[in-house]
Order: sequence, then C-alpha cells, then structure tokens
Amino acid sequence: MRLLLVEDHVPLADELISGLNSKGYAVDWLADGRDAVHQGASEPYDLIILDLGLPGLPGLEVLQQWRSGGLLTPVLILTARGSWAERIEGLKAGADDYLGKPFHPEELQLRIQALLRRSHGLVNQPTLEAAGLQLDESRQCVAQDGVEVQLTAAEFRLLRYFMHHPAQLLSKSHLAEHLYDGETERDSNVIEVHVNHLRRKLGRAVIETRRGQGYRFGATTE
Ligand code: CA
Repeated sequence: MRLLLVEDHVPLADELISGLNSKGYAVDWLADGRDAVHQGASEPYDLIILDLGLPGLPGLEVLQQWRSGGLLTPVLILTARGSWAERIEGLKAGADDYLGKPFHPEELQLRIQALLRRSHGLVNQPTLEAAGLQLDESRQCVAQDGVEVQLTAAEFRLLRYFMHHPAQLLSKSHLAEHLYDGETERDSNVIEVHVNHLRRKLGRAVIETRRGQGYRFGATTE
C-alpha cells in the first residue's frame, strides 16, 4: 500500500514516515499544498494523509480540487485539536476521516487500516480475511487453516495488497507502483521473487500466474 503524506511540520513528518514504514506502508512525502494538488491526482496512491495548515495552498483547497477533479482516493485529514470547524469543513470538502493533533501513532495506524479496508469493501475485523487466509496486520503474520505462517516485511506488504484485491488481475508494474514509494527504484523481478516465496509458504494455488498479464490472488480457492 502506497500513501501520500502532506505535512509541512518536518519533525512530525519524519516521525510519521518512519512509523508508517515500520507498518509496511510505502510513503511519499510533500510539504507544499500546490505540489500536493498535482502529485495526489497523478500518482496511484491507496490513501492520502493531509494536513490542513500548509504553505502554498491550504489543505482544504487541495482536497476540494482533488474531489472536484474526481479523485476517489480515501483522504484522512489532520486537524488542530478541538477545532470542530476544521473537522466539519474537511468532511464537507470530501475527507473520509480526520484525526486531531496531537494523536497517538497507533490511532493513525488503525484509522488507516480501517479506511483501506472500507475503500475495498472489506469488513474491519482484527484480522483481514481472504481466500482462507487471516492476515494479522499489527503482528505482520498470516494464519492458514489455523497454522500461523511467518512473513518477511516484503512478503507481508505484497500479501496485504493481494488480500485487499482478491480475484483481481494485477500486473507486476501495478504491484510495484503500489508497493514502493516514488524514490525507490522499481524492479518487477523482485515482485516475482516475493510471489514465489509466498507460494512456497502458502501453496501454489493461492496466487495464479497469467502469463504476460500478471497475478491473481485467491482466484481458485474461493
Ligand atoms: Ca501544518
């Protein structure tokens, strides 16, 4: 899952990026509202975290421009603590959720998790379930037929993306765009390696290869 963080307070941005990276999210960071209008609409983000007080262009106007342009990406806004006016304006402008500063990092993680699941039509439960697997996002491991299987960080990120898109055909380049931030060089051969590792751990049928097209997760086991 690839997120855009728009936040001009550098120490907070640093803290959020490292926390989100440790939870397996690829994060692109911007501090300026004008840059955010363009990049948020042109890169395929799974979710956007948007501060409202920004240089260049206020976050509220950034959000309004995204929504009037038809951008459907879930947006979580960061508001001043106790400012009900900001929350109301943000929700009216098309925010999906909000968090008042300061907040606990775990609350942000859980809200992101819930928003991502909701945007994919999935139920928000302690574990994410698809194709007979239960993914524990907080512990980054998966259970299959009651047996817990350990995952590397890269395997967890890939499996989480697959489990949010069951039975969908996903090309290697699509997967790379959603698993790596904009700074990381994308090598689709690496995706293939991780797919093979997941198959070795969870069984070949879990991920189907469509030659020249990509992968389908959970297509044959449902
Ligand atoms: Ca700010």
